Parts: sequence; C-alpha cells; structure tokens
Amino acid sequence: MKITIVGTGYVGLVTGTCFAETGITVNCVDVDRHKIEKLKKGLAPIYEPGLDDMIRRNAYKGRLSFSTSLKESIVGSEVVFIAVGTPPDEDGHADLTHVINVAGEIGACMEKYLVVVTKSTVPVGTAGKVRGSIQKELSKRGLEIPFDVASNPEFLKEGNAIEDFLKPDRIVIGVESEQAETIMRRLYKPFLLNNHPILFMDIASAEMTKYAANAMLATKISFINDIANLCETVGADVSAVRRGIGSDPRIGNAFLYPGAGYGGSCFPKDVKALIKTAHAHGHELEILKAVESVNERQKKIMFKKISHHFKGKLHGKTFAVWGLSFKPNTDDMREAPSLALIESLLKANAKIKVYDPVAMKECRKHLGDRIVYAKDQYEALADADALAVVTEWSEFRSPNFGLMRERMKGKVIFDGRNIYEPAEARDLGFAYYGIGRGKQEKQDVSHREHRAR
Ligand code: NAD
Repeated sequence: MKITIVGTGYVGLVTGTCFAETGITVNCVDVDRHKIEKLKKGLAPIYEPGLDDMIRRNAYKGRLSFSTSLKESIVGSEVVFIAVGTPPDEDGHADLTHVINVAGEIGACMEKYLVVVTKSTVPVGTAGKVRGSIQKELSKRGLEIPFDVASNPEFLKEGNAIEDFLKPDRIVIGVESEQAETIMRRLYKPFLLNNHPILFMDIASAEMTKYAANAMLATKISFINDIANLCETVGADVSAVRRGIGSDPRIGNAFLYPGAGYGGSCFPKDVKALIKTAHAHGHELEILKAVESVNERQKKIMFKKISHHFKGKLHGKTFAVWGLSFKPNTDDMREAPSLALIESLLKANAKIKVYDPVAMKECRKHLGDRIVYAKDQYEALADADALAVVTEWSEFRSPNFGLMRERMKGKVIFDGRNIYEPAEARDLGFAYYGIGRGKQEKQDVSHREHRAR
C-alpha cells in the first residue's frame, strides 16, 4: 500500500514515519524546502525522541521519502493525509487556509480514486469544505474522478509521539462510504492485530471527538490549577489533595498536575476554536470559557509570586529560568508558559538567563538576544537572585543543591511544577514557592525565623 502525507510537522512526520514502520510506502510532502532538505539527509526538523533513527531506518529501506511536490508524490497513492497546521485566526477560529489549499492542490493533480483524510484538528464541517475544494479543481479540469473524504484526528502527545502513534489508546475514523472504511481498515490493520481499538463513526462526530478530548484535558488542568490556588489561600497542600482525589478511578491521576498554565500548539487554540464553533451555532460553552480564563490567570502566577517576594522591585535583578518548552521532551515553544513569564520579567527590567535541554534554538526564535542562553542548568544560575523552574525536565528533578547554593546570589526557588519538596528545599537553605502548597509566604518566613533561632 502507498500513501501520501501532506505536512511534515509534529503530526505529519510522526504519522508518515510510523506508517512506514508498519511496512507501508509513504511519501511525505511539505512546502518548506529547508525541512525537506533536512529530512532527505535523515535529520528530523523537530525534536521528538526516537524519530531521527526511525526516519533513517525507513528511508534506507525505501519505504519513506520526502518531497516538495504533491503532484509527483500522489502518483499511486490510495490515501492522502492532510496534516498541515490549523492555527487560530485573529478571531480565535481555526484557520483552515492551509487545509483547504492542500485539498485544492489534491483536486488539481489527482488521477484516480483516493481517500482524502484530514489528520489536522479541524472544526465540524471541514470535511465538507475539503470535498468542495477538491471537487472545484476537478471540475476545472473537466474530470469526474470519484474520491472519498474522511476524518482521522490525531491524539499523539509531543515527547511521546512515536509510542502514542504505534500503541494508540484508540483510533478514531470518520467515514461516509464503505469503500473508505475498507481502505482505512486495511491501512490500520497492523494496529488492529495488536488489539488497539479502532472506532468508526460519522465524520462530524470524529471531528468533534478531537476537540472534545482536548477540551476535557484542558478542563482538568484548569480545574486543578484553580484548586491549587485555593489550597494556598486556605493552607492545604495541593500535592496531597491531588493524590487524594486522583486515587478515585472515576477521576484518575492524569492531567491533575498544577503548574504555570497549559500551553503548546493544541490546547490553547483548540479550546478557543471550540468556543468559537459553539458560539457560531448559538451555543455558549460556559465551562470552556472559564477553563480559558483560569489558564490566562495561571500563566501569570509565577510572575505574581516572584513580584510579591521581591516586593515589586525587579529592576536589575537576575532570574534563572529552567525549562522553556511547553512541556518536557519536546522543543515546541508555541504558547509556552515560560514565554509569558520571561516577557513579564523583561518588562519589569529584570535580566534573564535560561536553560533548556533541547528548546534553546526555538527559544531564540521567540526572544532573540533579549535574554542570556546558558550552556547548562548551573551556568544559568550564576549571580541569579532566584530560580524559576517552568518545565519539569527529568534532569531538573534531583539537582545538585549545594552547587545551586554556591552559584546563586539569592537563595530563592519558584517551582512552577512542584518537583521539589518544600520542606527539603527550605532545609537546604532556600526560600521555596510552589504552586498550591499551603500558606507559602507564612511558612517560609516562620521557617526562616525558626532556623535563625
Ligand atoms: P506544524 O506547524 O508542526 O506542521 C505543519 C506543517 O505543514 C509545516 O511543516 C508546514 O510547512 C506544512 N504545510 C503548510 N501548508 C502546506 C501545504 N500547502 N503543503 C504542504 N505542507 C504544508 O503542525 P503540527 O503541530 O504537526 O500540527 C498539524 C495539525 O495536527 C494541527 O491541526 C494540529 O492542531 C494537529 N495536532 C497537533 C498535535 C501536536 O501535538 N502537535 C497533536 C494532535 C493534532
């Protein structure tokens, strides 16, 4: 079987490479020449654990190839996936320009029956627009080639994308013809052999499933962040509360970790887009509006704590920031909470030294020379008045506290991911601020007073 994937970003590239891994012949197409040149050399343009090796292995076996030409790649393909970006437009709706353009390009060059599958996250009704765009181009060519549209939303998580794709919790496919279902079943057969559930449904439901899933996960994050902030006010520790509620299987532990707000390329834009879709249909999604506003507030929480500790005097102070990507194991910085914090600190005329295991290059694209990029996590601490941990990379979890004390001018840690134990950090001589971990300022002061006695 041969397929084409259009768009070689986090989703398209992982999808294409993983399908090649199952023995299928895959052509990946992108308009970005630099990406395609890199990929032809066996180099992934993004950081995703294990992806480079898998690309090289499948390219070597002749199952995976890269091109900027859709027309050439599509020849002989039975399925074409559209996996291009759907960023928010200025209004917050999903911008479908890339998706519809690709659909038009397919219509302009297809020569035989195809299943055109939307893998991008798109609002309900997009499949109809894809169909219309293909049809328009076929009509211009005076051709009547049959084709099907389908929706196959992607649920992979950056940082664990290969495992997620190869061992999915479920595969959701929206189809409207038996022929398309048969072809999609054949494509996903290797996954069915391993008992991963494949859920066929109508196209609108498949499109909606992706948004509903992301909206639910974002809701869990905003819920626990809201509870965390209340914990601080009433003197409870959200880490204990989280364990207390997460052990109930109806609630579960996943996505119940408080922090500096959700970011990334999906949750912020998908929550926004779903609110907009609902509004356009005369329905207000009140819960999601609250999820969004809680998140906006949460993205400011670390700056608020820092500003409070230094009594608003941040001018000329130096802050080390550990972790820049929106979550560990990726270099993706889209909507990363670290950017919100750094921008606020820069606005207050503070100096910033940052370190991230893989996102330094991406960070430069966002912040340029306005901050200092350290060679390692300890270099970032030199003369720092405080450390802010924003992303919970493994290597930050058990740091050398002695070295940290030596390097830092001020012994203050703002732990935006609750990776350290407050009492331990304080015993090691640091003022410690987590998220939702009791009445922090009071504890901190009384602890220091106790130590001084
Ligand atoms: P991305 O921005 O990383 O990649 C998109 C790629 O599409 C880019 O390389 C771009 O050059 C290419 N492209 C744009 N127009 C093109 C065209 N006309 N022809 C060929 N290539 C074109 O995006 P992404 O993160 O991979 O996301 C893609 C879609 O998948 C989005 O709708 C997103 O919401 C969804 N999604 C993303 C994730 C994730 O974790 N990133 C997870 C699930 C779903």
